[in-house]
Amino acid sequence: MNNMNDTKVALVTGANKGIGFAIAQGLGAVGFRVAVGARDDARREEAVKYLQAAGVDSFGVALDVTSDDSVAAAAATIERTAGHLDVLVNNAGIAGRTDGGKQDPTTLDLDVVRTVLETNVFGVVRVTNAMLPLLRRSDAPRIVNMSSNMGSLTMQAGPPLAAYAPSKTMLNGITAQYARRFSDTNIIVNAACPGYVATDFTGFNAPRTPEQGAAIAIRLATLPDDGPRGGFFDDEGVVPW
Ligand code: NAP
Repeated sequence: MNNMNDTKVALVTGANKGIGFAIAQGLGAVGFRVAVGARDDARREEAVKYLQAAGVDSFGVALDVTSDDSVAAAAATIERTAGHLDVLVNNAGIAGRTDGGKQDPTTLDLDVVRTVLETNVFGVVRVTNAMLPLLRRSDAPRIVNMSSNMGSLTMQAGPPLAAYAPSKTMLNGITAQYARRFSDTNIIVNAACPGYVATDFTGFNAPRTPEQGAAIAIRLATLPDDGPRGGFFDDEGVVPW
């Protein structure tokens, strides 16, 4: 039960730019109050300013997904400000250092792997578990994990990225584990692939807009109670694991 008011509240991590910003804008457009999770104060404040100017009911939440303290403080901020959470979009992600656009498994720097896993996988678990008490107060909690078809073992999409791609494979596995755990609850969790999107992440050298990349996350964040659980989806439908 929503304990403060009936406005639906969504937290988007890494919401200051790129796909995360577009998800925040899109959820705002369909009536969500949006908690704009971002680690950098200036970038977060600017994003909130833009969103508010665009008519989105939003507030900033300091959030570095790699920090236990930051994540705990973020949950406290949302509890104080909104009292509950209906949607969590785990969007923040990094590619990690590349060499000539690649991460070659035969020369892989394990520090790069650790850094990527810390954000793309451990960060998702850290944020999800910290937000669960707030999500459990919702009538229809939804969790969306922003994955990538590069993490699909079937598709083997994109260049060899031996740190990034397996991080998304593991994120998919974690998503399935949460779905099993939530199978007898009203919490629906899924993984999303945004496609190849023009953001800082891709050097703005990709065919899809952030709004197009955000669409699948928004759809999964607003699933009906009988919507799919524990799946991996893009705009076209199911993405193979
Ligand atoms: P982006 O423009 O580089 O944005 C990434 C966001 O994540 C930024 O807001 C960044 O914040 C934030 N972030 C990184 N580390 C963080 C941390 N430790 N704590 C909190 N926030 C952190 O990338 P994007 O293209 O929008 O990507 C968003 C998601 O989509 C990622 O998970 C990515 O793997 C996934 N994805 C993207 C594509 C694509 O084609 N672009 C394709 C498949 C999947 P700062 O500004 O502070 O760095």
